Amino acid sequence: MKIIHRCIIGILAAAVIALLGVAISEVKETGKMREDVTAMKKQKKELQSAIKSEKEALEKLKLEAGESGIEPDAAGQGDQQTDASQDTPPTERNGKKVAIDPGHQGYQVDMSDLEPVGPGSQQMKAKATQGTEGRFTGVPEYVLNFDISKQLEGELQKRGYEVMLTRQDHETAISNRERALLAADFGADIYVRIHANGSDDPSVSGAMTMVPSENNPYIAQLHDKSKALGEAVINAYCQSCGIANKGVTVSDDMSGTNWSQMPVIILEMGFMTNQSDDTNMQNAGFQAKMVQGIADGIDQYFAAGN
Ligand SMILES: [Zn+2]
Repeated sequence: MKIIHRCIIGILAAAVIALLGVAISEVKETGKMREDVTAMKKQKKELQSAIKSEKEALEKLKLEAGESGIEPDAAGQGDQQTDASQDTPPTERNGKKVAIDPGHQGYQVDMSDLEPVGPGSQQMKAKATQGTEGRFTGVPEYVLNFDISKQLEGELQKRGYEVMLTRQDHETAISNRERALLAADFGADIYVRIHANGSDDPSVSGAMTMVPSENNPYIAQLHDKSKALGEAVINAYCQSCGIANKGVTVSDDMSGTNWSQMPVIILEMGFMTNQSDDTNMQNAGFQAKMVQGIADGIDQYFAAGN
């Protein structure tokens, strides 16, 4: 009996010790798990705060990208972001192309060789002429034409046009026929030839546009649209700068017009032999109004569905 009792007590004691051991190790485990959970909670908090600041940084980038007109995707790409935020937003193209011809060229350029006055014509004319000059300011016409053409190029580009100038300096020997062909190569919708007038009579002043007539032997089919462009430009031009309006006239003996493949005008901006026109056309503020007026006329021509 005693032996049995002892055995049972021994077994019970062993069981109690074993259970205690499990319990103790469980307490240890639980303690360790609590520590783990605490550590994980801490990590979670840190991650959440990191995510929050990432989100804030992304929002800031999106805002900057919106202000500078670039896509948020592009904003994330290192240097590009800095460059893009410094650029002005690109002007949206309006799909129209304008060729501008700054009339004439430097006096030193010999343009006396002849070329046909129109496609298939036997009649020959000098490749280009020298033009007039300011009787009061002394400025040559080719310089004024170029100054206004460059300003017009910038203004039209701002308004969404694609623009081509037939010459970029005063030295290039390029004929009137060659200029018209350059405008065609460019795929221009309209061809605007910039000139200024001269007269033996210094009292003659004012501006006009010249277009091919409806009986032009080469480009009669371009008369209607050229006339519409000529009217839009001369009216807007004179309204903007205040030079007297001499209206639209027709002319069929200009090679640079006859070789054109799209609606074409010559704008005679004013008389360089008239004191008021000559001095006005050299005034920066006045020039800005001239340029605005020409661009307004071009806008109106296209807005009318041409
Ligand atoms: Zn001229």
